[in-house]
Order: sequence, then structure tokens, then C-alpha cells
Amino acid sequence: MRIYVDFDDCLCETGRAFSRLALEMFGKHVPYEQMHDFEMDKSFDLDAEQYRQFMLRGHEPEMLLSYDATPGAAETLNEWISRGHEVSVITGRPSSAYEPSRTWLDAHGLKDVRLYCLNKYGTDSLFGGGHRSLSLEDYYRVKFDYAVEDSPKAFRFFGHLPELKVLVFDRPWNRDCAFPNPNYRRCADWESIRRIVAGG
Ligand SMILES: [Mg+2]
Repeated sequence: MRIYVDFDDCLCETGRAFSRLALEMFGKHVPYEQMHDFEMDKSFDLDAEQYRQFMLRGHEPEMLLSYDATPGAAETLNEWISRGHEVSVITGRPSSAYEPSRTWLDAHGLKDVRLYCLNKYGTDSLFGGGHRSLSLEDYYRVKFDYAVEDSPKAFRFFGHLPELKVLVFDRPWNRDCAFPNPNYRRCADWESIRRIVAGG
């Protein structure tokens, strides 16, 4: 099987780190559980310049390397790889974040997963340069069997795969969203994701 796995808020606790960062940078106190919007500028009520600074800071290597691992992620991905499944981490982080992201994966027991940057959210222009690791054209050529994703904004990248089973990692910002079709399932943690794929 081919399995797509998102990085932020699937493999690591980016939302919680961003909640702390918004408080530190701008004095905006929005606890993780109250982050109801995936758009960080809306969640933290940031103006355009604050948002730009926030995104740049949040993608600095030192920050990217500091994100806590989501419990059970590495064990599950490594189990899939050992069973012969092809696991690709496809992140919306800009390609400038590739190296620290790779380093984080290696340091958290995920040396064997592939990593690709795909401009999912149109934020690449914030970071300068239009280079991307994975072109949309190449992305759309691959047929995945499962996807693990937390962001409703990324669901549009699954529309071409009607059979794809999308496991939506439960986060405060995806609780109100409507799922595009019955192949989408909300999953509370990696243990439930592991069980669904094993039973699959
Ligand atoms: Mg994510």
C-alpha cells in the first residue's frame, strides 16, 4: 500500500508550539484547545505583518527541531514500512524547511520515511523562491491508499482519488469541518489509525 502522511499536527505537535509562540511574540493567549481555525492569522488574530513574522519564526530550523513528537506516530510508520508499505511524509512546509524537517524525522526514529514538500497552502511565497521538492504534477501521478491529514485545507489534494481512505487526525481546527465523502474518518490518535490500516 501507499500511505500519505502529513507532518505538522500528525507527526508532531506544531499547533501547541504555535500557541506558545503567539503568546511569546505578540502576547496573544489562545490555548491549543481554542485554536478553532487552521488559518493561524485568524486563530491568533494576527495582522498581515504579524502573520508574516510568525510564519518565518515558526519555520526557523531551531523551532522546527523543537516540536514534540505525537505519541505513537514513529512506531506506527515504522510498522507500516516493515510490512512493505510505502510511506511518504508530504508536508505543506516550504522547501526551505526540508533539511531541518529531515533532521527531525531522523532524530525521532523515522530515518526510513520519505519526505516531500508540497505547496499545499500557497505559503511558499512568504519564504522566498518558488522551488518545491514535489511538483503538483508529480504528486497527482501517485495513487495513495490511505492518507493521514489534519488540515481541512489539504482535503482538496485528495479529490482525484475517490477510493482513498482519509484518516483525519483529530485537532481543534478540524472539528467543525464537513468531510467530503464517507471515506473520511476522524481518528483520535495513532493507535486508532494503526488499527484501521491493519484491519483495512
Ligand atoms: Mg498538518
